[in-house]
Amino acid sequence: MSSRAAAKTKPTDDRADRPAQLLAWYDRHRRRLPWRAAAGELADPYRVWLSEIMLQQTTVKAVGPYFEKFVSRWPDVTALGRTSLDDVLRMWAGLGYYSRARNLHACAVAVLNDHAGVFPDTEDGLRALPGIGPYTAAAIAAIAFDRHTMPVDGNIERVVTRLYAVEEPLPQAKPLIQQLAATLLGPSRAGDSAQALMDLGATICTPKKPACSLCPLNDDCTALARGDQETFPRKVSKKSGTLRRGAAFVVTRGGELLVRSRPEKGLLGGMTEVPGSEWLAGQEDKAALAQAPGLKGVARWHRKAGVVTHVFTHFPLELVVYTASVPSRTRAPEGMRWVPVATLDGEAFPNVMRKVVAHGLDL
Ligand code: SF4
Repeated sequence: MSSRAAAKTKPTDDRADRPAQLLAWYDRHRRRLPWRAAAGELADPYRVWLSEIMLQQTTVKAVGPYFEKFVSRWPDVTALGRTSLDDVLRMWAGLGYYSRARNLHACAVAVLNDHAGVFPDTEDGLRALPGIGPYTAAAIAAIAFDRHTMPVDGNIERVVTRLYAVEEPLPQAKPLIQQLAATLLGPSRAGDSAQALMDLGATICTPKKPACSLCPLNDDCTALARGDQETFPRKVSKKSGTLRRGAAFVVTRGGELLVRSRPEKGLLGGMTEVPGSEWLAGQEDKAALAQAPGLKGVARWHRKAGVVTHVFTHFPLELVVYTASVPSRTRAPEGMRWVPVATLDGEAFPNVMRKVVAHGLDL
């Protein structure tokens, strides 16, 4: 964890009443879902397990009718374990990701044969069953057995990263989020705390336009105070394509900069740029430097420390920036021109070139 993240995320005493605030909100606003127990009752592990497996990669709305069909045909895990895989697959048809249906059946058979038809009541015991990962095990343990544990799904990740303004991106931030989410557990009602956070994320702390004015935790939410709720959770940007490398040449003549226009067609067509090399995957610095513009008066290129990086839709780019200053009478090579540095804002520089110029001119 970075020191910045640590400073932002250290739970403080004034946050001690959050679990109670959350539960009070849940008691008033809990969603009615077919697999949930009535208020004050522990849920049936079979129903929790079935719903959690069905909900993987699927919405609550899509799962509802399938859940009802399953529990009316197979009211408990023993009934499901005694049926054939073909019957389960037929009933599952349309819900997608059929490996889940196979695991569902394998798990029911294991509970029936190895546990006398009774689900284990610990996270470890649950995790040993087919198709049950850490999240599902924690969800069943908390919701059905009131174990003091917090399952963290996407909704809970969003709420927690906003509450504490977690700067570390996903997926690296998962252990920290788990630790912070656990601070929202009260001394009892672990399952309700988890379901409260799930409901809060699904109905109030939504990805876009969260309804913070209705949130029970809005008196102490770091992201709300900063006004950047929608930027959480942070995610590592997905760079697609192979890294391309090249060189850019920032040449000044007194208060002027050497530029050219890119070809009309193609990437950044017609926009302004400083002269540069081709952008190629795996290009060596030496090969890129050899493409420097021919200019009288440049005895040597000065390589700036660091590189400029930019991510295009199809590839990430890394540019080494070289600088040189030339005497006042130096002519621009063919196809290039001098523009006053003072008027650069008026040039059609794409973002990558703005970064290059800023880097080269120490702006
Ligand atoms: S105050 Fe807003 S951003 Fe913060 S947890 Fe509540 S809904 Fe989410």
